[in-house]
Amino acid sequence: MAEEKEAVVLRVQPGAWAAVEGHEKTRARLARLLSERRVPHALLFSGPQGVGKKLTALATAAAFLCLEPKDGLACGECASCKALAAGTHPDFFAVLPETSGKAARSIKIEQIREMRGAVARAPKFSTRRAVLLDDAETMNDAAANALLKTLEEPPGDTLFLLVTGARQALLPTIISRCTLVPFAPLDDGAMSRVLAVHNVPEDLRGPLIALSDGSAGRALRLFAEDALSLREDAMATLEKLPQMTPETIFSIGERLGALDRERLLEWFRYLRMLLRDILAIMEGSSSLMNGDFSARLFAFAGTLPANRAFEAEREATEAARRLSTSNASPRLMIEGFLIKVAGN
Ligand SMILES: [Zn+2]
Repeated sequence: MAEEKEAVVLRVQPGAWAAVEGHEKTRARLARLLSERRVPHALLFSGPQGVGKKLTALATAAAFLCLEPKDGLACGECASCKALAAGTHPDFFAVLPETSGKAARSIKIEQIREMRGAVARAPKFSTRRAVLLDDAETMNDAAANALLKTLEEPPGDTLFLLVTGARQALLPTIISRCTLVPFAPLDDGAMSRVLAVHNVPEDLRGPLIALSDGSAGRALRLFAEDALSLREDAMATLEKLPQMTPETIFSIGERLGALDRERLLEWFRYLRMLLRDILAIMEGSSSLMNGDFSARLFAFAGTLPANRAFEAEREATEAARRLSTSNASPRLMIEGFLIKVAGN
């Protein structure tokens, strides 16, 4: 059990503050509150997934706990900063959702009780403590009510940092106890810098940004999953539709049928996204999900009657549904799908 907990210890590297991209106004506001030592006792970092909320919350905790802050920010060198980097800070507590059995990940009342017990003891490094609750919306009602009590009677000099990508799922009473720190999707420049830091090749950054709605986390996940090559495959398959022969169908079925089910479902997801873009083009829209493919999509849309694009989208949705709910052979399903949409 102790070992399991060790694995989810959060470390805060020196320089975490500088590593946050974008959110200039939010960070300036936090930095000002920190330097003036006026940080409210509970902050709610709220916004889309993968935009830097947790990183900012951790950097805020580091600054709050730092023994020799510089302009309100963590020095990176004091005992507190070093302990945070090592994941051994005695006055920093992270409450993260846990899984148990088949139930969805959630923060349970036992975890809140444990945290309350810990913050009731005297801090070791200074007079301050910080508590991070990640994915705070996963608290069940009992946990949320227990936390509410703590927020109503905050223990000493303790900073609570709640992080959520689904604020509407939090109890309104909890939201009203916190000062909101809102996060918007990242702009393209910030996205590009994050991708560069993570060594994503330059030519892939634009397409990944186009697919990620300002979420660097999503862009990095798509990169890790090699999503762009799946999407390219889906696009190339669409482009072959008008001249599809039984041989082409057979060879596409053979190739895609060899993918594992999850990846094939992803392929269908991209195919449907592309088809929805084609339908949008047919309706006169130029705002596309796959903007970087716009020339190919416009060219293809010109070769296809609208009812066939519509039918292909519907058949793709149905094929994906069957793929995820039945054990039917993926290869036969692909071939069946292509025969249907390439025909008539
Ligand atoms: Zn420090």
